[in-house]
Amino acid sequence: PLLPHSYTQQKKLYPPTLQNTNLSLLDSSGAMVSIDPTMPHNTESSSLVLPSDKEELFQNVLTQVAEQFSRAFKINELKTEVTNRLAMLEKRVELEGMKVVEIEKCRNDIKKLREEMASRNNSNFLEDNKKLTPRRDVPSYPKYHLSKETVEALRLPTFDAWQWEPNEMLSCLEHMYHDLGLVKDFNINPITLKRWLLSIHDNYRNNPFHNFRHCFCVTQMMYSMICLCSLQEKFTQLDILILMTAAVCHDLDHPGFNNTYQINARTELAVRYNDISPLENHHCAVAFQIFSQPDCNIFSNFDPEAFKQIRQGTITLILATDMARHGEILDSFKQKVDNFDYTDEEHVTCLKMVLIKCCDISNEVRPMEVAEPWVDCLLEEYFMQSDREKAEGLPVAPFMDREKVTKPTAQIGFIKFVLIPMFETVMKLFPQIEEAMVQPLRESRDRYEELKQIDDAMNEKKKKRTEHSISCIF
Ligand SMILES: [Zn+2]
Repeated sequence: PLLPHSYTQQKKLYPPTLQNTNLSLLDSSGAMVSIDPTMPHNTESSSLVLPSDKEELFQNVLTQVAEQFSRAFKINELKTEVTNRLAMLEKRVELEGMKVVEIEKCRNDIKKLREEMASRNNSNFLEDNKKLTPRRDVPSYPKYHLSKETVEALRLPTFDAWQWEPNEMLSCLEHMYHDLGLVKDFNINPITLKRWLLSIHDNYRNNPFHNFRHCFCVTQMMYSMICLCSLQEKFTQLDILILMTAAVCHDLDHPGFNNTYQINARTELAVRYNDISPLENHHCAVAFQIFSQPDCNIFSNFDPEAFKQIRQGTITLILATDMARHGEILDSFKQKVDNFDYTDEEHVTCLKMVLIKCCDISNEVRPMEVAEPWVDCLLEEYFMQSDREKAEGLPVAPFMDREKVTKPTAQIGFIKFVLIPMFETVMKLFPQIEEAMVQPLRESRDRYEELKQIDDAMNEKKKKRTEHSISCIF
């Protein structure tokens, strides 16, 4: 008798107004029981009951409790509510197609709701400082003793990132900073390095593709290119530090929707960065917000001039990962590559930009078993975006449309016209990447072309069968 059923419904009937409520209980004989630690237990044989006039008050107390709970879930509820209202309003625009005034009103309502939703979604971006708060204590991720085999494998583009837990990937990243001599040469506090890496992990979101594992893969590919191309003989250690750090930070807090979406949906990020590489600007800003926390600042021992260089270098590299700038950056590199000059700062910067671009889109360089799951991840993220674009009445890119894309069609053009030309240009400076990186790309292209032929043949058969069944009907 104590718990009224469905007390959540009661909250609408009894708005919570009471502050100091005197509740009393009656025992089975009808005598008043004071509510304090000495009160008798409520058992089945002698249950305590509420006096009938108090029941309403008790309901109200429960209502308040329910309110507290529901507030905690409110954000999700609001999101659903706004989405539902948006769908309803869009339906109404369709149905009431004749009434022009009504349409205009609905449009305005939709616009307002969309803005409200966008601001709600985006308020998570920078105001959510929780993730940026450094961990005060020594990070407790278990120190994995990387085996000799792992340490060796880590240097190769064939490394299989799918086999590792986040903690293990953190240990691998930590190992790379030590192995390249960066910790020693720049006097980086090893504990700060651990805390920084943990904070990096916490600031990647669980997107299908743009997540911490992608960050790890890009950084590991950078590490293997540094080893394979003996970049430490050509570059300064500061350049190596910039290459590695930019790779680690390059997709921080990626929301899972690309720049085109940000711009078309006029999100807070697009507004903040005036449609100019909104995501890359954001990744970079989050990176330096993390460095602004002393506990995570691996550059705390740098003099101001060195910090300025690392900051400028990192910003330049992260901003170079915007694929909208692919043609511009590759063209600029092509003009330098035949007379490449390692003493020319502009040349070196351009090469670093191309290197991070190579690593960022290097999945197809990896063995098929490692590369292929990433295509599924990317398509999952693309489909999520195109579904949302359709729902919001925004333009949809054909390469993201689940009705139009298949794995082979998605990959063939990208490998042929983006990856191979870029890696072949880099090959002019580093012939050793032909075997390790360009050859796997060519093999992957051939494999997807075969898969596409099979797909096409199947579709042809299906089409013929459909045509045949149609001709039978008539
Ligand atoms: Zn990336």
